[in-house]
Amino acid sequence: MNIIIFGPPGAGKGTQAKFIANKFNLYQLSTGDLLRNEIKNKTELGSKISSIINSGELVSDKTVSSLIEKFVSSDNYKHKIIFDGYPRTLNQAKNLDELLEKYKQKVSIVLKLSVSLETVKKRILERKTLEKRADDSEEIAIKRYKTYEKSSEPVIDYYKQSNLLKVVNGEAGISEINSEISVLIDTIKGWL
Ligand code: AMP
Repeated sequence: MNIIIFGPPGAGKGTQAKFIANKFNLYQLSTGDLLRNEIKNKTELGSKISSIINSGELVSDKTVSSLIEKFVSSDNYKHKIIFDGYPRTLNQAKNLDELLEKYKQKVSIVLKLSVSLETVKKRILERKTLEKRADDSEEIAIKRYKTYEKSSEPVIDYYKQSNLLKVVNGEAGISEINSEISVLIDTIKGWL
């Protein structure tokens, strides 16, 4: 079972991805975390991408896609990945399908957390005090939300066409969202 979790910044996708990973014994592959680690470790890539991330734009498809192959190709994670924050563009979605096909895998379900811009602004400001992420300011939150809306629309259509998309109400409380997602995953597990 490979799962994609998808949603605007502040939708709670990281929290939900962690919960799903623990509950269903999956590996949480967060491209945002991988990229932040590059910055933290002061790698060459990190120095190239820090201004892009801090301005709320997306890193190039090539950069992100090159980071994920090592996980998709590994037997340790075969059929066991929850993709958190990837794919974010149509190109990335197509690239992921190609990669999964290469390693004889598939996407089982795509969970989309839907949340309003008002909620996103509120949550990001709360998170800023807890995590001190450089890209968590109101102005950048709005920018990231707009970037998400623009780039993710074709991705959503792509997964709608293949009947993999499930929309989850991200406005609900954490445990309510947990339960809704668990039911959806249990249902598809029954079909696999
Ligand atoms: P996240 O932690 O998922 O909110 O990601 C934080 C930031 O990392 C995003 O605003 C982007 O700048 C960058 N990022 C993360 N995942 C991707 C991706 N799949 N494609 C492009 N940029 C990404």
